[in-house]
Amino acid sequence: MEKKRKISIIGSTGSIGTQALEVIEKLEDKFEIIALAGGSNVELLEQQAKKFRPKYIYANKPIKVDGIETLDSLDDIASNTENDIILVACSGKIGLRPTLKAIENGIDIALANKETLVMAGDIVMESARKHGVNIIPVDSEHCAIHQCIKDISQVDKLIITASGGPFLHKSIEEMKNATVEQTLKHPRWNMGKKITVDSATLMNKGLEIIEAHHLFGFDYDDIQVVVHPQSIVHSAIEYVDGSVIAQIGLPSMHIPIQYAITYPERYEGIKSKSFSFSEIARLDFEEPDFEKFPTVKLAYKAGKMGGTATTCINAANEEAVFAFLEGKIKLYQIYEITKRMLDEHKLIENPDIDEIFEVDRSVREKVKFMFSQMYC
Ligand code: NDP
Ligand code: MG
Repeated sequence: MEKKRKISIIGSTGSIGTQALEVIEKLEDKFEIIALAGGSNVELLEQQAKKFRPKYIYANKPIKVDGIETLDSLDDIASNTENDIILVACSGKIGLRPTLKAIENGIDIALANKETLVMAGDIVMESARKHGVNIIPVDSEHCAIHQCIKDISQVDKLIITASGGPFLHKSIEEMKNATVEQTLKHPRWNMGKKITVDSATLMNKGLEIIEAHHLFGFDYDDIQVVVHPQSIVHSAIEYVDGSVIAQIGLPSMHIPIQYAITYPERYEGIKSKSFSFSEIARLDFEEPDFEKFPTVKLAYKAGKMGGTATTCINAANEEAVFAFLEGKIKLYQIYEITKRMLDEHKLIENPDIDEIFEVDRSVREKVKFMFSQMYC
C-alpha cells in the first residue's frame, strides 16, 4: 500500500489553512496529519483537532483537546522529523523562523507565506539547497510558474499576472479615500485581511516579484507584471525562442494548495468542475498603472537593492497595513510610510539571520513610533 504523506499545517485556521484541510479531507487516504497550528482562533483549531485528530496542536493561546498533545512553540512542529512536508500558511513575519527550522531538519516546505522569502530569501533558499529541501510554492502565480518550467536554463522571462484588486478601475482619488470595508472587498479572491489589503495597494504583486526572484533565481529585469482582471491565467514564462507557456485554470486556491502538498503527484482530489474556454469567453490584459500603484516600483527598487532592503519594506508595509486596518491611517499612506522607511534604511548587503530579525524589529519600532507621534 502507498505510504501516507505526513504533513503539518502552520496557520490551519486561516484562509489557506482551512482550504488545505478541505483538500486533505478529499485525499484522506494520502495524508496523515502530524500537527495543526493556529494563532488566536482556538475554537476553530479545537474543532479541526477533533475532526482531523492530529498528533499535536499549537495555538498562540491556551488550548487543550483530549488525547492530543499541545506543543509549546511552532519550532516544536518544525523540528519534528516525522513530517514529510510542512505547509507554512501563517501570515506575515511569523512564518520565517519555523520555515528555517524545518529546512534545517530536512523537511520539505509547501510555502504560502511569501513574507518569509521577502524577509530573508537568500538565507532561506541557500539553506534549502544545502539541506536538499524542496520549497513548493502555494502562491498561485509561483505555483503556475513552477508548473510551466521544464528546463529553467532555457527560460528568458517570468510573467506574473495581477488581478488588479478592488481599485483597478477606480480613480486615484477614490483609492485615496477608500474605507477598510471597500479595501477588503476583493473581486476574485477570499483571503486573509493582510494579503487582501496588499492586493488593493498592489504591494502583494511587489512582494510576489521578490518571491519569484528567490524561488526561481531570475533578475528583477526579467520578471514582468501584467494586469489580468479575470485571474484565469495564473502566470506564464517565456522561453528563449519566444514560446510562452502559461498555466490557466479557474481561480481557486484549492488547486495550487493541492499541487504543492501532493507534488510531484496529481490527483482529482477537490476538483469541482472541468475548465471550459467558452464559459470564460474572454481574457483581458493591461499594463499596471505604476502611478496609481507605486508599491510595485518600490518593490522592484528594494529587490534590486538586495540585502535588508526587502526586509525593511516587508516590515514597514506590514505595520502600516495593521494601522490601516485599525483606522489609524489612509490606504495611500501605506505606500508613503513604506517608501520613507526604505529611503531612510541603512542597507546591510549580506545580512545574517540575526541582522534580518534586528532590521525587522527596528523598522517596526520606527513605524509604530511614527504612528504614536501622529496621534498624540
Ligand atoms: P489568514 O489571515 O487567513 O490566516 C493566517 C493564519 O496564521 C491563521 O491560521 C492564523 O491563526 C495564523 N497565525 C497568526 N498568528 C499566529 C501565530 N503567532 N502562530 C501561529 N499561527 C498564527 O491569512 P491567509 O491564509 O490569507 O494567508 C496566509 C499566508 O499565505 C500569507 O502569507 C499570504 O500572503 C499567503 N497567501 C494567501 C493566499 C490566499 O488566498 N489567502 C494566496 C497566496 C498567498 P488565527 O486565525 O487562529 O489567529
Ligand atoms: Mg498570489
